[in-house]
Amino acid sequence: MKKLGPKPEKKLNILMVSSEMYPFAKIGGLADVVDSLSGALKNLGHDVRVVLPRYSLIDTSHYSVQPVLEPMGVWMGNKEEWCSVQQTHSSHGVPVYFIEHTNFFDRWGLYHDSSMHDYDDNPVRFAFLSRAALQLCKDIGFKPDIVHANDWQTALVPAYLKVWHWNDQTLGAAASLLTIHNIAYQGIYPKSHLDYIGLGWHNFTEDKLESYDQVNLLKAGVYYSDIITAVSPSFAREITEPFGGFGLAPYISRRKNDLIGIINGIDYSIWSPQQDKSIPANYSSENISGKVICKKELQKAFDLPQDEHVATIGAIGRFVEQKGFHLIAKTIESILQNMHVQFVILGTGDRSLEDYFGNLPVRYSGKAGSYIGFDNYRAHLITAGSDFFLMPSLFEPCGLNQMYSQHYGTLPIVRATGGLDDTVENYNEKDGSGTGFKFWEPTPNALYYTIGWAVSTYYDRPDHLKQMIDRAMKKNFSWEKSASEYLNAYKLAMRNKRYLDSSNENYYW
Ligand code: ADP
Repeated sequence: MKKLGPKPEKKLNILMVSSEMYPFAKIGGLADVVDSLSGALKNLGHDVRVVLPRYSLIDTSHYSVQPVLEPMGVWMGNKEEWCSVQQTHSSHGVPVYFIEHTNFFDRWGLYHDSSMHDYDDNPVRFAFLSRAALQLCKDIGFKPDIVHANDWQTALVPAYLKVWHWNDQTLGAAASLLTIHNIAYQGIYPKSHLDYIGLGWHNFTEDKLESYDQVNLLKAGVYYSDIITAVSPSFAREITEPFGGFGLAPYISRRKNDLIGIINGIDYSIWSPQQDKSIPANYSSENISGKVICKKELQKAFDLPQDEHVATIGAIGRFVEQKGFHLIAKTIESILQNMHVQFVILGTGDRSLEDYFGNLPVRYSGKAGSYIGFDNYRAHLITAGSDFFLMPSLFEPCGLNQMYSQHYGTLPIVRATGGLDDTVENYNEKDGSGTGFKFWEPTPNALYYTIGWAVSTYYDRPDHLKQMIDRAMKKNFSWEKSASEYLNAYKLAMRNKRYLDSSNENYYW
């Protein structure tokens, strides 16, 4: 009798909708995740496509862009909007569709103007993006098995799918998944936008769209998506608790059986010391000699003495409360005064922090260097050239920099929260194990002593330091692992697909 082999895995049609994607438009980790995850899923043989706004800051002269639809009509409330759609490919060969709507996306920034003021019509802009992504599937005949939404900007996609498209030829079979990358931003805006959003005032209820008499877009995604993922297991737990849920804990807790924590991976084609094209010397865990060349180049780039024997601490990120840069500002001067270290920082955001860190090299010449702005080249140089990477976040859903830095043999100093706790192993002085240095209390004191601990390990226990670097560089942060967990989550969403009661548009729990 003929033996039957294992059933071949069904290849999925996956639609990802996002407000960011590297390299087209990036503010933070969301951009990296969408690029890497879509690429990893494509490599596994799935038909994955990404929909993104055509922001004016996307320089299309760098990519080959083809018109796909001109025009495309999208119904919003009782108004039809018109846009056009262009297509390009990511570096992994994933088709990327740009939704072009001059009024909405032809602006200085993605979410706010140059004075950091949120665009007032953000709910309108991103509701339109969400609806347009689904309309696009219908117009080009792409029949997704799964629609993957990301954060508040596209959290309405699962809602539109359930309320408007449950019976469609093209979209009726699709299940939905919402990934929460950051719960501090929920897309809360005046309820007057609801008419345009078009989900009906009967859905403006406390469990779906309403928060303190305003619309909350992320909350809608939590209600309507079939599966919710959070970007690390610890973060998945934290968002069901009052402190970590930022007001959504009770609603996410209701969905706790549909909530999965999946840690992000690293795109090794962009972030690996062996292949990185933006660092002056490549290196690996087998031959780490190139790291010293990177360190010296880093010191030169930040006007610091080129000394390979001084402990160098780097930091990169958005200057916002969440990332703990306020803690660094309260601690760094005592560190620079009392320890033999150099400190380099790259970032942008809060104006007073920009001023503070921008001036630090003037006051601590030869010990501190800073660059205020967004700069990929310097980000890679700091990651490769530093000995330690500082990430004292108050909360951190996943965090990428601590994974990048471990892979580059740059030991992270982190507050043990969310993904930082999940991905960094604390140093054990008894046997030299661990891949970084952790602290728990979000206080300047705790940060000061943990930096001191790392610096004393650098000077007094070099054998332990070497062992930790080796262990950190060999850790597996590959996207293949995370992508297979996302695939399991997609399958679960398809199996557990929920239907609204068409008479009242509620679920039965
Ligand atoms: P978040 O998404 O909360 O900003 P992550 O650690 O997940 O934090 O991802 C941040 C990403 O953005 C990393 O790739 C980091 O290197 C990059 N990044 C942040 N600020 C800057 C900057 N000023 N210049 C260059 N890259 C930056």
